[in-house]
Amino acid sequence: MIQPVIAIHGGAGAMSRAAMSPEKEQEYLAALNGILSAGQAVLAAGGSALDAVTEAVRRLEDCPLFNAGHGAVFTSAGTHELDASIMDGATLRCGAIANVTCVRNPVLAARAVMEHSKHVFFVGPGAEDFARAQGLELVDPSYFSTDARREQLLRVQRENPDAAVLDHDGQALVARGQPAPADPLDADKKFGTVGAVAVDAQGNVAAATSTGGITNKQVGRVGDAPLIGAGCYASNRSCAVSTTGTGEMFIRTVAAYDLAAQMEYGGASLQAAADRVVFETLPAIQGKGGLIAVDSRGNVVLPFNTEGMYRGYARVGEPPVAAIYQ
Ligand code: ASP
Repeated sequence: MIQPVIAIHGGAGAMSRAAMSPEKEQEYLAALNGILSAGQAVLAAGGSALDAVTEAVRRLEDCPLFNAGHGAVFTSAGTHELDASIMDGATLRCGAIANVTCVRNPVLAARAVMEHSKHVFFVGPGAEDFARAQGLELVDPSYFSTDARREQLLRVQRENPDAAVLDHDGQALVARGQPAPADPLDADKKFGTVGAVAVDAQGNVAAATSTGGITNKQVGRVGDAPLIGAGCYASNRSCAVSTTGTGEMFIRTVAAYDLAAQMEYGGASLQAAADRVVFETLPAIQGKGGLIAVDSRGNVVLPFNTEGMYRGYARVGEPPVAAIYQ
């Protein structure tokens, strides 16, 4: 009998400890613990891994602290374009959406694609029409905007307009006498996807990933988060994976599937396969970020090659464990 477990992430990136108050850190840890408890409750009640990851990512999307759903980052045009994906390791069914601007919970749209369409991936207006037809909640795009994210866009555009991710950290801002970002991880250098992976009592695994992308991204740009095999993958034969980081490099290395393939074809352990992706394959092309993964026996890994990653896991019957820094 497997002890069900869920793991979540809220993005990886550089620290801005100089700017961080203990209160702010507690706020993030409390959010992570609350969402872990909610996902754990689904598993404890006999729910599926698929339901647990859906519920956890829906809550991460609704939480303004994380870059997905409400609180998503802005494109260079000051708009929001959201991406999400989900995969069921028992059946290899999956669903994804990209470039949506008005679907409140992109992960629910991805799941609806998986369950109610013969297709796997919808983008843009077609994805929004599909979500509407499924009765999902649509919102005015301003719902996703927060003052903190708008300031972040303006700061990036002022200091480094060509960058999609600002090339400085919170400590540098403080040193220059400028107001520092208030997040524990420097919001300008943080890759802010959210995600969840879980294994249930039946040994079925599932993964889900959702993002606003990266600040100041070009309109129409899509990262790894909605791409099955790059930002999300699940198979009972190996593991479930959700990633966060410089999406282009995760696409180029097919990071999530690479991890699973090492296990399935090469017999690697979850730990060895994940470490190779995060500490060898991605850095070889300057890929930064991290991932969370569980295998069908209940092992969990949460590696990252940045200074921090909002993350945690919760086994049924045990208190959740959440952390931000190394
Ligand atoms: N991987 C995401 C993307 O490239 C960003 C992130 O993880 O923050 O869109």
